[in-house]
Amino acid sequence: MTWSHWQVPPFVTSVFFVLGVFTLYWVSYNWIASWARTHRLRIAEETINTWYGILYMVVFAFSIQTLVVGTHISWQFMNFQLIAVIFCAYFLKIHMPVYSLFPILLVYMVFNGSLVYWQSWGHALTLMTFFIVLNQVRNRFYSKRYAALMYMAVGIPFGGLLWLWMKLKFDFSWMTFWQEWLYLVIFEALLYVYVSMLMHDTELKLRLAKFASHDALTQTRNFAAYTESVSYLFKESQTSNRPMAMMMFDIDHFKHFNDTYGHAVGDEVLQQVATTVQTVLAENDPRLRLYRTGGEEFNVLFPGYDLEATQRIVNQAFQAVNHMNIHTAKTVIHVSISVGVSEIIDKDQSPLDFYNRVDHNLYQSKRNGRMQITAG
Ligand code: GH3
Ligand code: MG
Ligand code: MG
Repeated sequence: MTWSHWQVPPFVTSVFFVLGVFTLYWVSYNWIASWARTHRLRIAEETINTWYGILYMVVFAFSIQTLVVGTHISWQFMNFQLIAVIFCAYFLKIHMPVYSLFPILLVYMVFNGSLVYWQSWGHALTLMTFFIVLNQVRNRFYSKRYAALMYMAVGIPFGGLLWLWMKLKFDFSWMTFWQEWLYLVIFEALLYVYVSMLMHDTELKLRLAKFASHDALTQTRNFAAYTESVSYLFKESQTSNRPMAMMMFDIDHFKHFNDTYGHAVGDEVLQQVATTVQTVLAENDPRLRLYRTGGEEFNVLFPGYDLEATQRIVNQAFQAVNHMNIHTAKTVIHVSISVGVSEIIDKDQSPLDFYNRVDHNLYQSKRNGRMQITAG
C-alpha cells in the first residue's frame, strides 16, 4: 500500500465512507444537543435531530454531486445519496408535510441539469414515493420485532426501481446495474445496524443522565441537579440583573409517620407530596422545577421571579399539600409543610448566602409552630 496505490477495493472504502458520514453526523448532533442543554435552550432534542439531520444530509447529497454533475457518470454517487434519503425517511422523526419534499427534489434536478430527462422525472417520483412509504413503515412497524424485515422489504425493491431509471437514462451495462443495486442493499443493511447501535448508545446515555440527576423515589430532581441549577441560575441572575426566588419546604413531624406507620408509608407520603407540588408548578409555569434536597426537604427555584411574583404559586402549593388526604391500608393521613421563601439580594455573594436565608425562613416557620410560610 503506497500513497498512490491503495490495495483496498473501492467498495470497502465506500463502506467506511458511509459509516464515517454517519459517525460525523452523530458526533456533531450530540455536541449541538449537549450545547443546547447546557445553555438551557428550550428545544426538544428530537427537533434538533430532525432539522440538523435534514440540513446535514441535504448538504452532503448536494456537495457530493458537485464532483460529478454534468458528466456521463453523474450517477456514480447515487447510492450515497440514497442512503442519506433513507436515513431522513426512516431514522429522523420527520413531522413535515410530504409535499415539502417536492421543492428539494426540484432544486436538485435543476442543479443536476436533469429537468429535461423523462427518466429523471420517473426517478424523482419514485424517490418521493419511496420516502413516503419508508416513513410510513417506520411509523407503523418501528417498535415491532420484524421492523428490520419491513425496512429491507421496502428498501430492496425501491432500490432496484431507482437504479432501473438510471439504467434507462445512462445506458450503463446490466452488470453495473446489478452491482450497484447489490451495493445499495448492503449499505441499507449496514445503515440499519449502525444507526440502531448508535441510537441504543444514546438512549443508554440519556437513561444514565436521568438517573444521575433525578431522585428515584419521588421522580423529582436530586441534590446534584439542584446544586448545578442554582449556581448556573444565580450567575445568570447576577449578570442579567434578573430577579430569582427560591422556596424551600419540609414536611412537618415526618418522623412520626415513619414511627407510627412504617417507612413504606413514609415513602408513600413523600411521593404524594412531591407529585402534588409538581402538579401545582406545572399548571403555573412548566419551567419551574422541584428538587429533593434532603430526606423530606424540597426546593423550588423561580428564575425570573421576585418574591411577590412567587406568592400565588407558593400559596397554592402550600394549600394543596395541606389539603391532601393520603390513604393507607389502616388510616387516612393528613400532612402539612413548613415553608421558607426568599429572593436574591445585592448582598448575596454566592448561592449559599441565598440558600441560607431561605433555610433560615423555613426554620422560622418551624419555630413559630409549623404549617406556615415565612417570606422575606
Ligand atoms: P419537623 O416537623 O421538625 O420537620 O419534624 P420531622 O419529624 O419531620 O423532622 P426530622 O428531621 O426529625 O425527621 C425527618 C425524618 O425523615 C427522619 C428520617 O428517618 C426520615 N426520612 C428521610 N428520608 C426518608 C425516606 O426516603 N423515606 C422515609 N420513609 N423516611 C425518610
Ligand atoms: Mg420535617
Ligand atoms: Mg427535615
